[in-house]
Amino acid sequence: MISIHSFTFNPIQENMYLLFDESKECIIIDPGCYDDNERAILSKYIADNQLKPVKLLNTHCHLDHIFGNGYVAKKYNLQLEVNKNEQRILDAYKMTCDLYGMNADPSPKPSVFLEEGDIISFGNSKLEILFTPGHSPGSLTYYSRADKFLIAGDVLFYGSIGRSDLPGGNHETLISSITNKLLPLGDDYKVYSGHGQVTTIGFERKHNPFLT
Ligand SMILES: [Zn+2]
Repeated sequence: MISIHSFTFNPIQENMYLLFDESKECIIIDPGCYDDNERAILSKYIADNQLKPVKLLNTHCHLDHIFGNGYVAKKYNLQLEVNKNEQRILDAYKMTCDLYGMNADPSPKPSVFLEEGDIISFGNSKLEILFTPGHSPGSLTYYSRADKFLIAGDVLFYGSIGRSDLPGGNHETLISSITNKLLPLGDDYKVYSGHGQVTTIGFERKHNPFLT
């Protein structure tokens, strides 16, 4: 069974996730830890729980999701795994940080390109991948069939959806990703988003104003 721990980090209040099981192997998704204090909080949790990070994944490469990529990759000797369509977003990271007046701690380049249908294995567990563009051109959703949850990045939020006005975004594509890829997973799936509280597919199907 996969346990999920989230931290809300950086001035943009992004949710990063640690996924781990009884083996203690751990996957780090979207490390938004921005400063030394937040990086220490993350590392302390990993150490206190004797977790062993084995993978570094991004749902997409907007700045608030990758501030800690460099720290995590170096500290735990991990390679970065993303969808290939995020390369250009990653390439624009420094420029985007300058635009927002934020520090761009350098991210490693991706070493592995993930696609829909790929399987992420760790410990005794696995995650599957859906390609869910629209907020960002290479947004990926990671989900567990066994434990019925998904890590949605900025595709779907509690009562809302990701913005589609950033480079590579497209509203129709985003709605299509949600309705054709996420909703079919089933109402009982929990949704862990890049911002805000946890929700479920069932709640969003009924109440999300962008989907009704
Ligand atoms: Zn984003």
